[in-house]
Parts: sequence; structure tokens; C-alpha cells
Amino acid sequence: MVKSYFPKTYRQALEILAKSNPAIIAGGTDLMVKKRRWSGLSPGFSEDMIFISQLRELDYIRRENGKIYIGANVTLEKLLHDKDIPEILKKAVASMASPGVRHTATLAGNIANASPAGDTLPVLYILNARIVIGSLERENVIQIEDFILGPGSIDLRRSEIIKEIIIDDTDFDFMMYEKVGGRKSDAISKVSFAAAVSSVFDMVTDMRIAIGAVAPTVVRIREFELQLIDTPVNEMAQISGLVKDLYKPLIKPISDQRSTADYRKMCVLNFIEEFLNKAGKRIGKEKDIDW
Ligand SMILES: Cc1cc2nc3c(=O)[nH]c(=O)nc-3n(C[C@H](O)[C@H](O)[C@H](O)COP(=O)(O)OP(=O)(O)OC[C@H]3O[C@@H](n4cnc5c(N)ncnc54)[C@H](O)[C@@H]3O)c2cc1C
Repeated sequence: MVKSYFPKTYRQALEILAKSNPAIIAGGTDLMVKKRRWSGLSPGFSEDMIFISQLRELDYIRRENGKIYIGANVTLEKLLHDKDIPEILKKAVASMASPGVRHTATLAGNIANASPAGDTLPVLYILNARIVIGSLERENVIQIEDFILGPGSIDLRRSEIIKEIIIDDTDFDFMMYEKVGGRKSDAISKVSFAAAVSSVFDMVTDMRIAIGAVAPTVVRIREFELQLIDTPVNEMAQISGLVKDLYKPLIKPISDQRSTADYRKMCVLNFIEEFLNKAGKRIGKEKDIDW
């Protein structure tokens, strides 16, 4: 028979994880779907489970010293209404699921689920998200691109838990997030795209591009981004062909029930062009996000 654990404190959760290695359930919006059975039957969990959504200690958003700290139990809905959360992350969250799901689903759950189509992931990649992993013995911090290993696969032991997520609190000049789904809400992504740029004296100083649902994990290539530094802002539109050529070989989507590979690839290349065009026109006029 499977056991359910309901720790009262974070410390107690770590002790249970160390001793009994149960699987973690937070909002349950992924797990309850994965474990669903015939109508009328409760979900079929085959291993011991530890429920963590009652741990208020992990429900916080803090902004300190150029970083934003998000506790593992923060729900998507809470992110949407917090003044310290960057607008680009809010835009991604607003495109996800429905209010009912967002009130229970967590950011940590979206990361740990490690779906190539996870909507917060491209944004977290460009915000240089770090995952804080807790266990009874130690606390570890790992970059999101090292934490997510492949579809449904993460670098986390059974005795460990995601404690918090840390993101950069960067003031970009222009940011863009786009999701292509079958409809405006409650749709899984066909592709998702996040990008941001900063400049000084009309020269690009920082450019970040991340693409979701076109490869086993989010595509973000820092060497390409470095090549784009020092581009004059008014030449950004002109380099779009070159930038698309850089990314083309890495965009290897699959065809499935939601979309074809060709359509996904076309969307991403169009988003790269749109981002560079819009950024080139808007930088220097107002700091903004493309809503
Ligand atoms: C109707 C519906 C619509 C949806 N729409 C979208 C959408 O548009 N875009 C999208 O990206 N997703 C969508 N989802 C998926 C889901 O809501 C998100 O992935 C959500 O963020 C998962 O969070 P959760 O807390 O519910 O995770 P859970 O289901 O509780 O857990 C998911 C995984 O994360 C692990 N986990 C959770 N918390 C921790 C932790 N602190 N430490 C370690 N491991 C942990 C669990 O063990 C499990 O493997 C949708 C789901 C539903 C049911």
C-alpha cells in the first residue's frame, strides 16, 4: 500500500525525503493528469507521496540585491499579481492553463515537470534562473539549463527537493514573449519564444533568446548571444537574416498532434525577425515589453 506524507515544516519534509524517498506532489496539476484513471476512480499513485503545498515556509517572493527569490510553493496565480515579478514572466504565466489551474499549479512544478513545452521555461532561461535544491545534508544551487536534462528528466535525487528559484532582476530595454497555441488560453504550446535586449549609447550590451518546444530542452545559446553584443541598435533589423541562420540548425521540432515540425520552425524564425525589428525601433523610446 502506498503511503502519503503531510509534513508540517520544511525541515520535516527533508527528514521524510531522506528516510523514505517518496515522490513529491505540489499543486498536482501535472501529476493528477499523469496518474488519472477511468472516470469515478481516484488517480492511481503507485509510490509513496509527500504533499508539500501546505508548507507556507516555501510560499514567498523576495526581491534583494538584484535578484528575485521565488519559493517552491508559489503558485502561478500569485506570480501574476506580485509587483516584483518581471512582466515577461507574468506574460508567460498569463498564457498558461486557466485561473483554476493557476491557483494550484506552482512554478517549481512547471520546472520539475521538464516538459519541452513548459511555458515558463524560455523566460526562466533568459532570466538566468538558478534552482536551489534542498536536502537534509546540504543546499545546492544549479543553473536551470544544467538542471533540466531532457523531457521529464531533471537532476534531482529522491532525497532532494526544489526549495526556491532565483532569477535575475534585470532592467532590459525591450522584452518579448510569444506562445503559439491552439487557442488563447488553456492550450499547450506549439512553440514558445522569449527574448530580451539591453543597450548603452545605442549599442547592444546584452541580448538573450530562448526557444521552447523545438528541441528536447529549451534552446538558448550563449555563444550566439555574445556574438550579437556591440551591434548598433539601428542595425538590429538588418542582422535578422544572419541571426536566423545561426539558430536554424538548432531548431529541430517534431511533428505531433499539436503541430507540424515545419510550422513550428517557421513560427520561431518569424519571432526572431519580429524581435529584432521591434527592438531596433523601440529601444531608446521607452522601456517595455511587447504585450
Ligand atoms: C488543464 C491544464 C492546463 C495546463 N496548461 C499548461 C500550460 O498552458 N502551460 C504549461 O506549461 N503547463 C500547463 N499545465 C501543466 C501544469 O499546470 C504546470 O506544469 C504546473 O506548473 C505544474 O505545477 P504543480 O505544482 O501542479 O506540479 P505537480 O503536478 O505537483 O508536480 C509536477 C512535477 O514536479 C515535481 N515537483 C513539484 N514541486 C516540486 C518541488 N518543490 N521539488 C521537486 N519536485 C517538485 C513533482 O514531483 C512532479 O514530478 C496545465 C495543466 C492542466 C491540468
